[in-house]
Amino acid sequence: MTTGITTFKSFLRSSIVTPLHRLLNAVDTPVIVLLYHRVTTLTSDPEQLAVTPENFRSQMKFLKDNVPLARFDDDWAKMAKPAVIITFDDGYADNVREALPILEEYRIPATFFISTGTIDTTGHFWWHELEQILFDTVQRPSRFTLQHDGRTTVWPSDTGEKRREVYRQLVPLMMEKDAESRNDCLSQLRRWANTGEIIAHCHRAMSLAELHTLAENELVTIGAHTVTHSQLTVLPPNNQREEIVTSKHQLETWLGREITTFSYPFGKRCHYTHESITACREAGFTKAAANFPGQIHRWTDPYQIPRHLVRNWSITHFERKLQGFWTR
Ligand SMILES: [Zn+2]
Repeated sequence: MTTGITTFKSFLRSSIVTPLHRLLNAVDTPVIVLLYHRVTTLTSDPEQLAVTPENFRSQMKFLKDNVPLARFDDDWAKMAKPAVIITFDDGYADNVREALPILEEYRIPATFFISTGTIDTTGHFWWHELEQILFDTVQRPSRFTLQHDGRTTVWPSDTGEKRREVYRQLVPLMMEKDAESRNDCLSQLRRWANTGEIIAHCHRAMSLAELHTLAENELVTIGAHTVTHSQLTVLPPNNQREEIVTSKHQLETWLGREITTFSYPFGKRCHYTHESITACREAGFTKAAANFPGQIHRWTDPYQIPRHLVRNWSITHFERKLQGFWTR
C-alpha cells in the first residue's frame, strides 16, 4: 500500500469535510489525538475500555499506511502536515504486555498518562472491583443498602439483572466522590458481598517494573493522570493541586526525568475546573489532555486538548470514524 501525504490527502478528500472545517484546515494544519485505555481481550467490559490486539493492530497499520503520526509532546505548530497522535490513559499492565509490542512493530510513538496511586500499591481501579462483585453469579443478599453523604440508598439485588443495575447506578455515583468516600462505598459493598478486596489479574495496573519497561522505550512519552483518579471537580482547589503535583513528582522520582504532560481523569469539561487548569500550568505542565472530540489548531487551549475516544472498532468502522474526526 502506498504511504505518505498523497494517500492522506485523498483520504481527507474522501471525508465529508464541511466548508467551515475545510477553511480551518486550510488556514491551519489540524492535529487529531486518539485516546485509548486498554489493549487486551476481555470476556466482560461494561465500560468498553478495551480494544482487542487484533483490532488495535489493524488500526495502527491503517494509521501507519495513511497518516503522519506525531508525538503528544511535539511542537505541533511547526508541523506542516495534518497528523494523528496516540495516547493511553490510566496505566494498565496490558499497555506494556499487549499494546507496546504492536506500537513497536509499526514504530508508532505514544504517550501514556499514568495514575500513580495504582502503581505497585493496590494495583487496580475501583470500577473493576465494582464489576467483579456485582457481575458475579454467586448468590447475594436480596438488598444492598449504601450509606453515603448522610443519605441511605437501597437497591434490590436478588437477581443478576438487578445487580447490574446497581453497577450502572453506582459508577456515576462514585465518580462524584473523593477517594476516601469511594473507599467507604467499596467497604460497604464488600461487607454486603461478604468478601475481601477483589483484585482481578486481568484488570491490574502496571507494576513499577512495567512502568520502567514502558518508559525506557524510545517511542514512549510518560504523562501524569493524578494519584487517585478522582474527578477533579469534586475536590477543593488545594486537593486538586495536590493530586496534580504529586502525580508529576512521583513519576519524576521514579523515572528520573521531567514529566511535562497531563490528562484529566474522565476528562469531559464537567470533570475539571478553572482551578485544575491553573494548577496544571503552575505545576509546569506544557499540555493537558481532555476527553471530548475536536481538532487541534494553533488557537486550541493547550490545557484543554480534545481527544477522540477509540472503542473496539473493526478496521472498517475505525476508518469511517477517523474520517469523521476531521470534521468534529
Ligand atoms: Zn483515566
